[in-house]
Amino acid sequence: MRTISTLDDLRSARLSFSGTVGLVPTMGYLHEGHLSLVRRAREECDRVVVSIFVNPTQFGPSEDLAKYPRDLERDLSLLEPLGTDLVWTPSAEIMYPKGYQTWVEVEAISRPLEGAMRPGHFRGVTTVVAKLFNAVQPHRAYFGQKDAQQAAVIRQMTRDLNFPIKIVICPIVREADGLAMSSRNVYLDPEQRKAATVLFRSLSAAKELYEAGERNAETLRGKMKEVLAGEPLAEMQYVSCADYDTLEELDEVKGKALLSMAVFVGKTRLIDNFVLG
Ligand code: AMP
Repeated sequence: MRTISTLDDLRSARLSFSGTVGLVPTMGYLHEGHLSLVRRAREECDRVVVSIFVNPTQFGPSEDLAKYPRDLERDLSLLEPLGTDLVWTPSAEIMYPKGYQTWVEVEAISRPLEGAMRPGHFRGVTTVVAKLFNAVQPHRAYFGQKDAQQAAVIRQMTRDLNFPIKIVICPIVREADGLAMSSRNVYLDPEQRKAATVLFRSLSAAKELYEAGERNAETLRGKMKEVLAGEPLAEMQYVSCADYDTLEELDEVKGKALLSMAVFVGKTRLIDNFVLG
């Protein structure tokens, strides 16, 4: 496994690869969620490239960029045994050279949900992912369903910009009690960590109603809110029951739908989702 930080080294390593190349973009501080994407890429591709870059442009001014957890040594020790070929760790100066002024922006599907709560977030995500795609030129790129809207936005960008890349979306990896794995879970103290299961409990309660035949989206949103309200340490930011493809809020669930939410537990912002249908 090689670890590379300059673009020149990345390009020459890429030129030496024959066969299919899979890319797993991450912000590091890896957990089983990330590793599941690497394992899937390892199964499906001849070469596996993992990028680790805490992308400043996808963080808002009041967000946790400075204190985002980082541990490159540990990340490398987790990636090596999985058969990763190359880890790319570019600096902010490489990704955003002085005078940088080019942005990739996906319109409608970036606007609701996370886009509404985190202005500019998806512009940062799509810009950095487009740059990673250009630099690595993968055949396949792996993302998690954990960030459901991000997956939809990246699929849209890939179609719109004609990137010849297959986007593979992998299922959410959860802790034993249902909490979706996230690098941000380390911010939670033990009491908050227990409270954080409320996202999974709330999504599960809505899904149970759906499975019992409920199709009124407002009733499903109401159930999620009710369960969240029962957890004193949790503060809801939004709950949504939206069309799976457009992410527009539904009145009635007919086809595939996305239940999703953002919840603060203390100062930590957690997101989670279930797919219905
Ligand atoms: P991040 O490092 O948070 O930018 O995440 C890198 C990739 O890992 C993204 O495609 C995420 O959706 C994915 N990911 C993060 N957490 C999980 C999880 N619990 N299960 C599956 N994929 C995940």
